[in-house]
Amino acid sequence: MLAGHSQQGPATVVSSRTILILGGTAEAYELARRLSGRSGLRVISSLAGRTIAPRRPEGEWRVGGFGGPEGLARYFREQDIFAVIDATHPFAARMGWNAAQACAVAGIRLARLERPAWVRQPGDNWDEAADWDEAIALLGVHSRRVLLAVGRQELEPFAALDHVWFLIRSIEPPDPLLAFAQARFLPARGPFTLESERDLLRAHGIDTIVCKNSGGDDAKLIAAREMGIRVVMKRRPPRPVSPMFASVADAVDWVSG
Ligand code: NAP
Repeated sequence: MLAGHSQQGPATVVSSRTILILGGTAEAYELARRLSGRSGLRVISSLAGRTIAPRRPEGEWRVGGFGGPEGLARYFREQDIFAVIDATHPFAARMGWNAAQACAVAGIRLARLERPAWVRQPGDNWDEAADWDEAIALLGVHSRRVLLAVGRQELEPFAALDHVWFLIRSIEPPDPLLAFAQARFLPARGPFTLESERDLLRAHGIDTIVCKNSGGDDAKLIAAREMGIRVVMKRRPPRPVSPMFASVADAVDWVSG
């Protein structure tokens, strides 16, 4: 993480209300696009700094952690934030709890924008896990050729599984670089078509997909259902209670209300 590193986008517009979007997702970019340029509203997007070459959101933006809930509360005061939308990834739970704590202390409105979770459909062969240790236990001895789509920074627990061949798919190279006994790295950025997912699973003889319940593009899950391929999926972590929106339009209405 680019801890403490902070960058500023275009010059600050003098206005009455400043909203902070906790970002890093497609929904957060879309929200920033829909809100920026509105009169009387200053929009700041915050990125954690995990991605090597992140897309720049519309409006103002900054990069790097705040330094826990205390640092976030300080940032609220410095920037005179009136409301926060936590649009971080469903698995970025710590930021959500930090935001809830800081907003409660500062008396600031907080809402959550989160894409809906995938829901098991008839024909799915899913096993759900609370964490990667449980997922690895579920792989057992029967899963031998695994599409690992868990994000480049969460590969470590899988590197010790010598009996499994992994197809590791992520946007950027694994971090840290790990010594897998049998693996191939496939750099790729979704969304993926159903046809390309079918081809990929077939070409590599995949018997199991390991992923998180991120929601959104579900082509790999449809292909797995069709092909009788097992899915081991990490459940979403618990989140603090706050108004919750599944669509960017509803989050825009909340800001406007
Ligand atoms: P996390 O565990 O919830 O957060 C860890 C720490 O990173 C936070 O305590 C905070 O540091 C900092 N942080 C997280 N999101 C931030 C943001 N939007 N702006 C500024 N600081 C942020 O999060 P994570 O799982 O490491 O994910 C980091 C970022 O990557 C998130 O913004 C998320 O939207 C994006 N992302 C995550 C995943 C995933 O699977 N986890 C997938 C795709 C994208 P301080 O305590 O110092 O403030």
